[in-house]
Amino acid sequence: MIHFSLCFFFFVAFSCLAAEQTRLPLNDYFAETWNTRSGLPHNSINSVAQTNDGYVWIATWEGLARFNGREFKLFTRSEIPDLPDSGLRSLAPQADGSLYISGARGGVSHLKNRQWLVQNNASAMVNYVLKTRSGEMWLALEGDGIAYRDYDNGPEHTILVNLSAYRLVEDKRGVIWAATSDGLYKIENKIAQLVTPSSGLPHSSIYSALLTQQGQLIVAGEKGAWRLVGDMFESIHPKLDGESISSLLQDDHDDIWFGTINKGLFRLSEIGLEQLDADSGLPANRILSLMQDREKSIWVGTNGGVYRLREAPFSSWTKKRGLNGDYVRSVLSHSDGSMWVGSSLGLNRVNNDSVVAIPPAFEQGPLSILSLAEDNQGGVWVGTYTSGLMRVVDKKIYPVINRDNGLLSNEIRALLFDNEQRLWVGSAAGLTRIDPDGSVVQYTTEQGLPGDFIMALALDSRGNIWVGTGVGVAMFNGELEKFKGQAFPKQFNAEYAFGFYAQQNFMWMTTDRGLIRFNIITGEIAILGREQGLPVDKLFQLVVQDDSFWLSSNRGIIQVKQQQVNELLNDPSSIKGQKLQYQLYDEGDGMLSAQANGGSNPAATLHNDGSIWFATSQGASTVVPERIKQASQISLPTVIESLYVDGKNTPILYDEELVLPPGTARLSFHYAGLSFIMPQRLNFQTKLIGYNNEWVNRQRLTITEYTNLAPGKYTFMVRAGYPNGQWQDNYKTINFVIQSYFWQQTGFKLVMLFTLLLLAFGLYQYRLYHYKKIEKELIIRVEQQTRDLQQQTDAFAHQATHDQLTDLPNRRAFDSWLAENFSDFKQQALPLAIAIMDIDHFKRINDGWSHIIGDRVICVVAHLLSQCVKSDASEVARWGGEEFTLLFPNKTAQQAAELCDELRLEIANYDFSTIANGLSVTVSFGVADSLTVNDYDRLLAQADQALYKAKTIGRNRVEIIFSDTLSAEQPES
Ligand code: GH3
Ligand code: MG
Ligand code: MG
Repeated sequence: MIHFSLCFFFFVAFSCLAAEQTRLPLNDYFAETWNTRSGLPHNSINSVAQTNDGYVWIATWEGLARFNGREFKLFTRSEIPDLPDSGLRSLAPQADGSLYISGARGGVSHLKNRQWLVQNNASAMVNYVLKTRSGEMWLALEGDGIAYRDYDNGPEHTILVNLSAYRLVEDKRGVIWAATSDGLYKIENKIAQLVTPSSGLPHSSIYSALLTQQGQLIVAGEKGAWRLVGDMFESIHPKLDGESISSLLQDDHDDIWFGTINKGLFRLSEIGLEQLDADSGLPANRILSLMQDREKSIWVGTNGGVYRLREAPFSSWTKKRGLNGDYVRSVLSHSDGSMWVGSSLGLNRVNNDSVVAIPPAFEQGPLSILSLAEDNQGGVWVGTYTSGLMRVVDKKIYPVINRDNGLLSNEIRALLFDNEQRLWVGSAAGLTRIDPDGSVVQYTTEQGLPGDFIMALALDSRGNIWVGTGVGVAMFNGELEKFKGQAFPKQFNAEYAFGFYAQQNFMWMTTDRGLIRFNIITGEIAILGREQGLPVDKLFQLVVQDDSFWLSSNRGIIQVKQQQVNELLNDPSSIKGQKLQYQLYDEGDGMLSAQANGGSNPAATLHNDGSIWFATSQGASTVVPERIKQASQISLPTVIESLYVDGKNTPILYDEELVLPPGTARLSFHYAGLSFIMPQRLNFQTKLIGYNNEWVNRQRLTITEYTNLAPGKYTFMVRAGYPNGQWQDNYKTINFVIQSYFWQQTGFKLVMLFTLLLLAFGLYQYRLYHYKKIEKELIIRVEQQTRDLQQQTDAFAHQATHDQLTDLPNRRAFDSWLAENFSDFKQQALPLAIAIMDIDHFKRINDGWSHIIGDRVICVVAHLLSQCVKSDASEVARWGGEEFTLLFPNKTAQQAAELCDELRLEIANYDFSTIANGLSVTVSFGVADSLTVNDYDRLLAQADQALYKAKTIGRNRVEIIFSDTLSAEQPES
């Protein structure tokens, strides 16, 4: 059987079109196990299912786990409303993307659009839920038979009782087949009929039933598995007869998988019936469920966890697959299409379906193989660890030459045929050249080699031989027949040259400090090492395939893009900006050990079927790059798993707009790409429309946070991609709106703006008012000051024309009045009389009483004069001392004298005793008028003359100077 399986494998590997058809032997799948230690709630995996959104669901006795490839999210009685018990038996994913779950205590629930729809409890544990095409819900019950509901939560009808039903399938004709403890029932038009042994089924329990893609019914149970052919059930495979089979699966190759209750797993395919059990890696031999996901991986639910088989990018050829040894040091791609694998325990030829051991012809123990080479006749030459150079003749290894007969050492690490079919033999102690004529030439450090420990040999495009040693490389110039040492530039700090890869203009060297590129035309040399982003120092072998460089190392296989490497090496200054993009493949990708071997050659090679082979410490690891490419073309769903708004988990609905409150500060989106093959390699990009309309690379981060987003509408988008693939059109979106505070709203902002403008205007107005007020005050103050000044001026003017003691006009005022008006009276021939009055014996008053009393008397007299004179429209003035003058316009002297006499009497009769005891005052008047004089001086003189007369005559009297005296006095003037 193994023979057939290998043949099948290679048949598909060779065919370009056949990658889709790749079917690995059951033992060669890459397997992983998850159990309670990985986060599952229970190790009994009752059911595994995948919903359309891409999630894998796992039903256990302690609840349901949702798996996104990285972690499990748990759903129990607390998360699923009204579920009577967390123990779940089965999962039934539906075409519409929803999922029915069922289990203990009659629990059924329906998950649709992220919401749990509560279903009525059944009478007993529900082993299976079947939704028929007509929408009926059929329930397989533990101990309670079979019931159906016309629709979800509709009226329930019983079909069978008193048995345990395990599985229900509906065939194309609407017949329901029920696997039960009684055997298989066929239910047609709600009438159940037990399938009897006459149909080919033994009388025993049936545990599972499967309707294949082709419409064939397969059932399995206590005593084997059968398929329905016509009306009869036929055993599927004699080896399964008598096996207790609990679960069935048809995969995408149409192979049938059988889960048994105590013997692990069987698969029936074109390869035949294969078995996988606990001895070959299954966590347990009791299988409870089977499922194939959309990435074609097979999920096996056991009672020791869930086991997943997948086709990994890498697979390995090991002892288990027929190699002599697992410690592989060299892999040779032969021109006949075979692969030759040299290990520490011998040589094998791997061809199509077979691994053939090539034993030594004479040696007893195993040969430890270090290096291999093919000559131009197709002959294989073998470098050994301890037995020198050998070659393969008739499928056996014969010695050729060793230290005893011409080699420098028996440890042969590299072999090379040059263009002249000379064989170069690199040993641990120098280089030997064996020419076609059998002559041998030795080269060591003495002949110009940088070192004697030879690990690698290569031919460049010009025919030069390159030698890799422990202290740099050397190049043998064929024309000059001479070596030219080529120590690595000091700054590279490289010593070991493990391998070469020749291109037209370049010789590439894998060293203990990275990948060195030497331009054989210009002599330029450049290195790609840790500093340039390589994850390791030591590289063993470079293999070029399409646009990729594949590099083997102690930590796995590194894949880099040839173009980027050349770009980085062409312009070392660009290194700072660029980051070396690489993929590192290791155990997680199907390698049995990430530790590749180097130091002997070829340590890795490109095979002519497109696969790349690497010598590793756990077999020869091969990768089919095409398979990685295909994996990255599988549609990859993206899901947004949760959204935390300011730290609070917020339910997500893809189709509805999420409304977030004002002041929302932090949003954190958690998402996943639902790939179960390389979940840890997925890359993500996010975009937040409304904030940034570009896709932003998030690498492998599965959380994106945004802080302090402005209020507004946003759309968050996330998509997942495989590292080497194009971004798929698989993005998920969430629309949300962050509401604004009233003060963040446009209306409010406008009102604020308007208010501000108003305020500014008000302020301006206030300032204007203020300035006006100040101006007004200034004007008032100036006016006041002007007024004060005027008053002062007036006062000064008054002072100048008035007497201080009596406030009567003074002599200056009187004189100027007289001077101004005298001529007017004269011209109009109107009379103008004046009188001079003098207080009689005033000295006596001053002397008899005091000057103060004298002053008072002057004041009283002035007062009396002004009182009387006012009524006669005359003027009175203090002439000086105790003398006063009086003016009588339009009055003759006679008329004035009469008035003066009244004054005289009033003063004489006035009671001055109020001023001083016994005081009495009399006055005398001298009166004259303008009729008898020509100028006012003369008028004054006449009045004074009249006064003199009055004094002389006896005082207390009024005297007039008449006009006749004018002529008499004329001569005097
Ligand atoms: P008569 O006029 O009757 O001949 O006698 P008389 O004593 O009034 O003499 P005369 O007119 O010569 O003297 C005036 C005196 O008045 C002189 C002076 O001392 C006094 N006198 C002048 N002015 C004032 C004044 O304003 N107050 C006081 N108390 N005495 C004044
Ligand atoms: Mg006098
Ligand atoms: Mg007098």
